[in-house]
Amino acid sequence: MSILATTLEQYDEAARRLRLDPQLHEHLRRPKRALIVSVPVAMDSGEVEVFTGYRVQHNMTLGPSKGGVRYHPEVGLDEVTALSMLMTWKCALMGLPYGGAKGGVRCDPAKLSSGELERMTRRYTAEISLCIGPDRDIPAPDMGTNDQIMAWMMDTYSMQRGATTPGVVTSKPVLLGGSLGRVEATGRGVAMMAERGMAHLGRPVSGARIVVQGFGNVGAVAAHYLHAAGGRVVAVSDVSGGMYNAAGLDIPALQAEVQRGQPVTAVQAGAVVSNADLLTLPCDILIPAALGGQLTAANAGAVQAALIVEGANGPTTGEADRLLRERGVFIIPDVLANAGGVIVSYFEWVQDLQFFFWKEDEVNSRLRAILTHAFDRTLALSEQQGIDLRTAALMEAVGRIARATALRGLYP
Ligand code: NAD
Repeated sequence: MSILATTLEQYDEAARRLRLDPQLHEHLRRPKRALIVSVPVAMDSGEVEVFTGYRVQHNMTLGPSKGGVRYHPEVGLDEVTALSMLMTWKCALMGLPYGGAKGGVRCDPAKLSSGELERMTRRYTAEISLCIGPDRDIPAPDMGTNDQIMAWMMDTYSMQRGATTPGVVTSKPVLLGGSLGRVEATGRGVAMMAERGMAHLGRPVSGARIVVQGFGNVGAVAAHYLHAAGGRVVAVSDVSGGMYNAAGLDIPALQAEVQRGQPVTAVQAGAVVSNADLLTLPCDILIPAALGGQLTAANAGAVQAALIVEGANGPTTGEADRLLRERGVFIIPDVLANAGGVIVSYFEWVQDLQFFFWKEDEVNSRLRAILTHAFDRTLALSEQQGIDLRTAALMEAVGRIARATALRGLYP
C-alpha cells in the first residue's frame, strides 16, 4: 500500500466520521498545486545530469504552506503529495497559521559531492522560486537535507529577490536567522510524546526498552533525550542496518561516532541486526524515524512494543495500523509525534519576520506547551469518541480546515 493510499484512507475515515460535506471532502483529497521541475546540474565529471524535483502545496486556507524538502532516490509525486497533505493536518492540529506542502529531489545525496549538492539545491530553488516565499510557502529540511541546504536555498532566493530574506526557509543555521532549539525540535518532541504516551499507559520511561529506526536528525535526538531520561535504548539503525544491545547502548558515544561519519553498524556496541529485524525486537517503545511504510501487514503481528511513536512520516500502513490496534499497541501518530519540528519552524519564521530572536528556554517551553496541549486534546477526543489517536487527530485537523474553508467561501 503506497503512502498516498494510506494517507487518503486515513483522511477519508476522519471525513466520514465528521460527516464532511461530500464536495469539500473531494476538494481536500487533492493538492491545491503540484509543480514538477527538471534540475540540470553540472557534475564534477563535467557532464550534466538532469534530476527531477517536486513541490506540492496541498492547502493554504489557514496561511502560507509549510513543509520539508526531501533528497532521496525514491522521491516521487505520489509520496510528496501524501506528505504535503499530512503537513496540512499537522499544522492544523497544532493550531499553526499554515497549510501543508512538501518538496523533494529524486537523488541519492550520499553519492553527490558537496559542490554537486550545492548546485543541485540552487537550481532546484530557482525552479520552485515562483511558488515559494515567506508569505507563500516556506520549505524546511526533511530526509537527506539539513541546515546547510537551507542556507543555500535562502541565499539563492535572496539573490534572486535582491534582498536577504531569512523567512523563506526554516531550520537555517542560527547565524543566518535560524532559531535556537530548531535542530533538536522534532526529536525533542518525539521524546516528549513518548513520555506522555508511557504516562498514559501507566508505565515509567526510566528503564523502558526503546528501539529507534533511523539515527538521523529525528531518531538520534529522540534517542538522546530518552536515554537522558533513564530509558534503555537497546537498538538504533541507519541505512546501513541496526545495532542491538539488550543491556542498552551508550547513545552519546554512538552519536559522536555517527557525527564523525561512521555508519551505525561500524560502531562496536553490540550485535548487528537488519532494519527489518530491528522492528520486531523485544522492547517497550518503538520509534520508526526513517522512511514511510515500514510497519506493514507482514510485520505488524511480530511487533513487541507496547507504544509506537511515529517519528517518521507515514511509517505505518493502514493494514498494519489496524493489526497493531487490535493487539492493543498504543500508537502516537506522525501528525502529533513529529510536530515539534514544524512548531519550532513556526517560531523561527515569526522571529525572522520580526528580526527579534528568542532565548532557547523560551523556544523549548513554548514547544512543550503547544505539543502537550495537542496530545491532551487529541487523547480526550479519542476517549470521548472511542476511537484511536490518529483518527481523533485527523478529525480535529480536518474539522478545523473545513470550518475555515466555509468561513472563507468558494472563490470566485
Ligand atoms: P535524516 O536524513 O536526518 O535521517 C534519516 C535516517 O534514516 C538516517 O539515519 C538514515 O541513514 C536512515 N535511513 C535512510 N534510509 C533508511 C532505510 N531504508 N532503513 C533504515 N534507515 C534508513 O532525516 P530526518 O530529518 O531524521 O527524517 C526522518 C523522518 O522523520 C522522515 O520520515 C521525515 O519525513 C520525518 N520528519 C522529519 C522532521 C525534521 O524536522 N527533520 C520533521 C518531521 C518529520
